[in-house]
Amino acid sequence: VALRREDKSLSDSALTRSEGARHFIDVNDVEKWFGQLQVLKGINFEVTQGQVVALIGPSGSGKSTMLRCLNFTEQYDSGEIWIDGETVGYRFDGQGRRTVRPESEIARFRSHVGIVYQSYNLFPHISVLKNIMLAPVKVLGHSKTKARETAMDLLAKVGLSEKADAFPINLSGGQQQRVAIARALAMEPKIMLFDEVTSALDPELVGEVLNVMRQLAADGMTMVVVTHEIQFAREVADKVIFMDHGVIVESGVPSEVLDNPKTERLQSFLQRHF
Ligand code: ADP
Ligand code: MG
Repeated sequence: VALRREDKSLSDSALTRSEGARHFIDVNDVEKWFGQLQVLKGINFEVTQGQVVALIGPSGSGKSTMLRCLNFTEQYDSGEIWIDGETVGYRFDGQGRRTVRPESEIARFRSHVGIVYQSYNLFPHISVLKNIMLAPVKVLGHSKTKARETAMDLLAKVGLSEKADAFPINLSGGQQQRVAIARALAMEPKIMLFDEVTSALDPELVGEVLNVMRQLAADGMTMVVVTHEIQFAREVADKVIFMDHGVIVESGVPSEVLDNPKTERLQSFLQRHF
């Protein structure tokens, strides 16, 4: 299964500028407020194509908000996010003024960015296979034959071929989460975002989901992963970002960040979690 789409580019619109983006994902000085509460206080990081970034930090530090800004489910208040040469959610004019992109552009953009949440959110009334086929048929306009073929390939990839005709309620949490990942992959995303996808699972089911993510990383998918699985971050991530109170406190390769934390904040976070 081709997990990357080579034929369509995020940069195929006339709105593309290249000067602001040097990496596949560029997050520049992003700020986000909820009313009076500033949740992101100038976030900067970049991701090159095929990299896996693990986002760690205490509850409430802004990890989910940052992830949601990356696919514009949450509007950031200032700064810029670039993905594959295009600004996310906004267009900027020469004076730095910005306007929200039309809904159709945002929808097109989102179809390239897969996101999987802690809760699997599968459609309960249709089979596993149909859960995976739905968006490719409706959004990408694929034929049912093609969508079914892709869905079966993806089910094989996540180890659930025999569950194609099952309904979500008859699957374990780990199986449902693997279906949720397959469903996201069916849209042929360029990037996959994961928000604590194993946090709601019984401990014995965590490994099967992490294995699917490990495989995806090995296949070259660009991934931003919010996780409390530090061992997974150590093994799979190219870069670890530690956030606290809306700022990036430390970031770097796993051995640097996880084994040689420089700040007291990260030291105590790692102690609390391991
Ligand atoms: P994390 O994922 O690191 O736990 P979040 O990004 O979910 O952190 O939340 C960061 C902060 O923003 C928290 O204080 C949270 O209560 C607040 N927050 C998140 N979403 C909203 C919202 N929709 N409205 C108001 N406050 C929010
Ligand atoms: Mg969160």
